[in-house]
Amino acid sequence: MTAVPLGVPEVPARPIAERRVSRRIQVGPVAVGGGAPVSVQSMTTTRTSDIGATLQQIAELTASGCQIVRVACPTQDDADALATIARKSQIPVIADIHFQPKYVFAAIEAGCAAVRVNPGNIKQFDDRVKEIAQAAQDHGTPIRIGVNAGSLDRRLLQKYGKATPEALVESALWEASLFEEHGFRDIKISVKHNDPVVMIEAYRQLAEQCDYPLHLGVTEAGPAFQGTIKSAVAFGALLSRGIGDTIRVSLSAPPAEEVKVGIQILESLGLRQRRLEIVSCPSCGRAQVDVYKLADEVTAGLEGMEVPLRVAVMGCVVNGPGEAREADLGVASGNGKGQIFVKGEVIKTVPESKIVETLIEEAMKIAEQMEQDGVGSGEPAVTVS
Ligand code: SF4
Repeated sequence: MTAVPLGVPEVPARPIAERRVSRRIQVGPVAVGGGAPVSVQSMTTTRTSDIGATLQQIAELTASGCQIVRVACPTQDDADALATIARKSQIPVIADIHFQPKYVFAAIEAGCAAVRVNPGNIKQFDDRVKEIAQAAQDHGTPIRIGVNAGSLDRRLLQKYGKATPEALVESALWEASLFEEHGFRDIKISVKHNDPVVMIEAYRQLAEQCDYPLHLGVTEAGPAFQGTIKSAVAFGALLSRGIGDTIRVSLSAPPAEEVKVGIQILESLGLRQRRLEIVSCPSCGRAQVDVYKLADEVTAGLEGMEVPLRVAVMGCVVNGPGEAREADLGVASGNGKGQIFVKGEVIKTVPESKIVETLIEEAMKIAEQMEQDGVGSGEPAVTVS
């Protein structure tokens, strides 16, 4: 049998946008900003003081592709757990601190890879910045200034009337300036809002006014369906202008789902090498097979595939042969049969009942070859300014 020529599905030859020039910080081993690949993060939902459950969830997140994880720290028991969690986690752990400045110091001492502070609700935060900056500097711990529409500083709420983009940006830059007074610039910033329109404008303004790396998020984005769409729209609008260095999709759903969505957004924008991609038609009155069933069965059969394989599942001969020819593997269906394409060539025609098993069989062969050739095993494709 002749060898099938293989290739990587094209990552756009030209970046979607020049990345905004930003400072680089290190969150443990993960670089954020300064042209580093856009990273995906999430947050645990366990009680942090339950070390076993938290580490278990972090392991699940790690397996799903999460690169940075944040844990809440509302009590002393949670603060006491941080050192063990930070030491045993395979990915860098950020402690998320609200209200109590003492937990900022505890998290830094515990060896967390970064600390998120919410300037809107930390008691006497402005008076403690000098000490926080000193402790963070001594331990090499970056700080995320995480401004949130729901907990905006009261002074700014009074000034602007509500959490406008200008208010979010002013809050973030004011707090950053307090750190800067003490020579501390190891900072990343987020200005989250639940309305993508406000959020996009806030990040756009922030991007123009500073060079700190930006953590993108639509806060309280909602249940999985709505939250996925809001996040995809907002991140797409910003990342397509080169804005954003790390992302967190917030869903009312298990955190591993957030990671899947985040990764898919980056892959869709060509900011990460694509993995398995199913190109399937929406079906129409010309369809000669049940395209939904076929696409679902092929997707299920290839779940977990890591190589960048593009599989076209098409319902008829209008666009079918064209799309199937462009993909690594494809089927164009019609008259109870499926023409199977591998790398642009028809390799066989099979009865409709054999389409799924044939596609899966051929996909496995191609994937094996790709793995042998080391395709898709490297760093994600990235756009560096
Ligand atoms: S490929 Fe054929 S069946 Fe599918 S949407 Fe296009 S015309 Fe309709």
